[in-house]
Amino acid sequence: MPHYNETQLAIRDAVRNMVDKEIRPIASEIDATERFPEELTEIFGDMGLMQLWVPEKYGGPGGDLTTLCLVKEEIARVSQACSMFAGQNSIAGILPLLHFGTEEQRQRILPEIAKGRTLTAVAITEPHAGSDVSSISTSAIRDGDSYVLNGQKVFITFGSVAHKILVFAKTGDIARRGIDNISCFLVDTRTPGFSAGKGDKKMGMNGIPNCPVYLDNVRVPAEDMIGEEGAGFIAAMRILDINRPTVAATAVGLAQGALDVSLEYMKERKQFGRLIAEFQGLQFMVADMAMQVEAARELTYECTRLVDSGQLDNIAKMSSMAKCFASDMAMKVTTDAVQIFGGYGYMKDYPVERMMRDAKILQIYEGTNQIQRIVIARHLLDL
Ligand SMILES: Cc1cc2nc3c(=O)[nH]c(=O)nc-3n(C[C@H](O)[C@H](O)[C@H](O)COP(=O)(O)OP(=O)(O)OC[C@H]3O[C@@H](n4cnc5c(N)ncnc54)[C@H](O)[C@@H]3O)c2cc1C
Repeated sequence: MPHYNETQLAIRDAVRNMVDKEIRPIASEIDATERFPEELTEIFGDMGLMQLWVPEKYGGPGGDLTTLCLVKEEIARVSQACSMFAGQNSIAGILPLLHFGTEEQRQRILPEIAKGRTLTAVAITEPHAGSDVSSISTSAIRDGDSYVLNGQKVFITFGSVAHKILVFAKTGDIARRGIDNISCFLVDTRTPGFSAGKGDKKMGMNGIPNCPVYLDNVRVPAEDMIGEEGAGFIAAMRILDINRPTVAATAVGLAQGALDVSLEYMKERKQFGRLIAEFQGLQFMVADMAMQVEAARELTYECTRLVDSGQLDNIAKMSSMAKCFASDMAMKVTTDAVQIFGGYGYMKDYPVERMMRDAKILQIYEGTNQIQRIVIARHLLDL
C-alpha cells in the first residue's frame, strides 16, 4: 500500500463517510435519470473538495495531488460520475493559474474558486480535432484590450453548468497546424456569444453533463489569457501531465468498488449447493482482479509522490503509464465483475453493469490510451 500521511488519511475517512451518506443513495439514480446532482457542489465545496488544490495563501485548503487522488478514488468506488466533481477545478482553473498564470490572475481568481462554489470546465476538443490538438480551428483575434473568440468545442464535461471555461484557441495563423499558435483563455460563461448546446447522450458517466459549446464573437479581456500568447499548447500538455494521475485514481477506485461488490456477491450466491466463492475458477479471477487493482494503485501514487515532491522531470511518461495502465485495468476488472455476477451482472439491479459502462470513458478522455502509449514509447526511445 502507498504511504499516506495523517491528514490525507483523515480526509479520506471523512470522504468515505460522506460517500456513504450522500452518494451511495443517488449513484444508480443519477445514472438512470441522467440528472445532474448539483447538490453535490455545495457538499463538496463545504468539504473543500471543489477547491482542494488552491493554496492556503489564496484562501484554499492547500491540498496536494495525493489527497486529490485519494478523494477521487474513494468517490469512484461508489460513483465514477460523482468523482468527476472533485478535482474538476484543478485541471480547468487551479493548475493553469498556479503553473502559467500571473500573480495578478491568481489573486483575482483563486480566492473565488477557494469558496468552493465555482465549477470550471476545459474546452480543447473540436469536431475535427480530438487527439490532434494542433488542428483546432477556434480562433482568438486580438482587438484592442481583448480577444474575440469564434469556434465550436465538443464533448465538454460540465460545459452547460460551468461558471468558467478554459478555452483553447488559435491566436496566430489559424489555418496553420501547429502548437506555437495556440493560446488559452479563462472565459466567463455569462459572456455574450457563449452558449452550450444540447446535452450528449452517453454510454456512461451519466448525471455529469457533456455538450458542445459555441463561441460566437465572445469578447474576452486580454487579462484573462492564461500564460503567454502562443504558449497554450505547452501549458495544456503540462497541466494534463500533472492532472492525469487523477484519472488513474478514479480508475483504481472504480475497479476497487467492482471488486468489493464481487467479493460480497460470491459469499452470498450459491450454485451446485455451494457458495460460488468456493469455486477455484472464480477465486483465481478475484485474485487477478485484486493484483491488478493494487498494481495500478502503486503506480498512481508513485506519480502523485513525484508531483507532490516537485520531481517533474519524468512526469509525462509516468502519468501516461498510470492513466493507461489503470484505465485498462478498470475496464478489465469491471468486465470480470459482471462475469462474476452472471446474468444478474447484466441487469441494472446491480451496480456492476454501470461500473463497466463507466470504465470505458477512462480509456478515452484526457488523451486516449493509444496516445498515452505513444507518449510512453517516445520517452523510451528518445524520439
Ligand atoms: C464523455 C467525454 C468527456 C469529454 N470531456 C472533454 C472535456 O471536458 N474537454 C475536452 O476538451 N474534451 C473532452 N472530451 C474529448 C476527449 O478528450 C476526446 O474524445 C479524445 O481526446 C479523443 O478524441 P476524438 O474523440 O476526436 O478521437 P480521435 O482523435 O478521432 O481518435 C479516434 C481513434 O484513433 C486513435 N488515434 C488517434 N490518433 C492516433 C495516433 N496518432 N496513433 C494511434 N491511434 C490514434 C484514437 O486513440 C482513437 O482510438 C471528452 C470526451 C468524452 C467522450
